[in-house]
Amino acid sequence: MLDCPSSPAEQDPTVADLLAARPHLSMHALDGLTLEDVPLNAIADAVGTPTWVMGAGTLRARYRLLDGAMRGAGLAPSIHFAVKANDHLAVLRILAAEGAGADVVSGGELRRARAAGVPAGRIVFSGVGKTREEMALALAEGIGHIAVESAEELDILSDVAASSGWVAPITLRVNPDVDAGTHEKITTGLSTNKFGIAYARAAALYERSASLPGLKPLGFSVHIGSQIVAMAPYRAAFARVADLVRAVRARGLPVSLVDCGGGLGITYRDEVEGAPEALAGAIRAELGDLDVRLAIEPGRWLAGSAGLLLSRVILRKAGEDGLPSFLILDAAMNDLMRPSLYEAWHGILPVSARDATRPVEAVNVVGPVCESADSFADGRFLPRLDEGARVALLDTGAYGAVMSSTYNGRPLAAQVLVDGGRWSVIRERQPVESLWAADRIPDWVMPAPAGG
Ligand SMILES: *Cc1c(COP(=O)(O)O)cnc(C)c1O
Repeated sequence: MLDCPSSPAEQDPTVADLLAARPHLSMHALDGLTLEDVPLNAIADAVGTPTWVMGAGTLRARYRLLDGAMRGAGLAPSIHFAVKANDHLAVLRILAAEGAGADVVSGGELRRARAAGVPAGRIVFSGVGKTREEMALALAEGIGHIAVESAEELDILSDVAASSGWVAPITLRVNPDVDAGTHEKITTGLSTNKFGIAYARAAALYERSASLPGLKPLGFSVHIGSQIVAMAPYRAAFARVADLVRAVRARGLPVSLVDCGGGLGITYRDEVEGAPEALAGAIRAELGDLDVRLAIEPGRWLAGSAGLLLSRVILRKAGEDGLPSFLILDAAMNDLMRPSLYEAWHGILPVSARDATRPVEAVNVVGPVCESADSFADGRFLPRLDEGARVALLDTGAYGAVMSSTYNGRPLAAQVLVDGGRWSVIRERQPVESLWAADRIPDWVMPAPAGG
């Protein structure tokens, strides 16, 4: 097959390519790999591995780029960071200081965002299955708005609000039936997905919401998926929302807000990342003349490239009969789940400058968890790495630590924040005893065997 590359992995970016595309990372002869000028070896020496490292400067710079692109297009949307991408209090605090609000999908995330100091009025509450308790919490806090995702939820929210004398500011999240062109597990705007209200029903439901007690309909929300790098799906979705706004206004109903959701993609391998200027252009072109307040809910684009996962090669296991060797890391799918869940590609860099110059070979990079899915890369071309070598798994600042589990008795990894040359542990490595600290053995279970 002529159009088939001999091996996809051979086209993977090299160490030099990965560094060139990430100005916050650099390789120094003595210090090795640095993030925002802090040597990762110093962090690993002090804290051990696996450890998540987040760059505050990169995070701020990303926020300013996005905000600047919107302003450059004459837009001033409120920016609500999607907390599910990275829920650390320090991350939320840094973004809040830049002016960001939050997009939350549970009562737990709402309380986290409040604990980080995000004003309730700048928080948006999304999600397909909000409980009555979560709705009541959001209303008691004074939430900015709640994105309602079904007719059933609309009735429940009306009941919760009216029975306590609150007025719930809402948008209806519409499902525009647009294919975001992304991985099937992160697309949300197709009619077959569980998210949002069917487009054809949205206008009638908006009208109905205006007549229900306890609700203040403000407008519409849309969020078509994640890791979107093409603008056509955005344009299509925003155009449908704009039509909807005009249709309900024609029925005499006010609309003052359109929430454009998140989803802007980043460069993991060699994708051209979603440009904030292009997103701003799409919003302006489709929604710019509607005279509404605008909101966006970026997660991955702000936090993804600001973080990495620092790990160490436990051992190198020879492959059979010329097959690639296995590099078994001390990080695993319980730490970084994206490769197992979405077949996601993450760049891998050696931390030592000497390792970075060794001859390149194809290896399978895996974790020690007892699942075949516990794999970070198959047939990846990397400089030769031996037992003890440290590596950085790149672009893990979004949907990284938040998705971790303790599967296989593996405590949650430590987290470190780097900023302006200094660094601090922002989450202690989870003590192993805490894995069973909440377990209770009923007294009718056999006592431990002698010597146990
Ligand atoms: C997940 C999510 C986002 C953020 O998505 P990203 O791809 O991380 O930008 C925004 N809004 C809603 C409703 C979400 O569920």
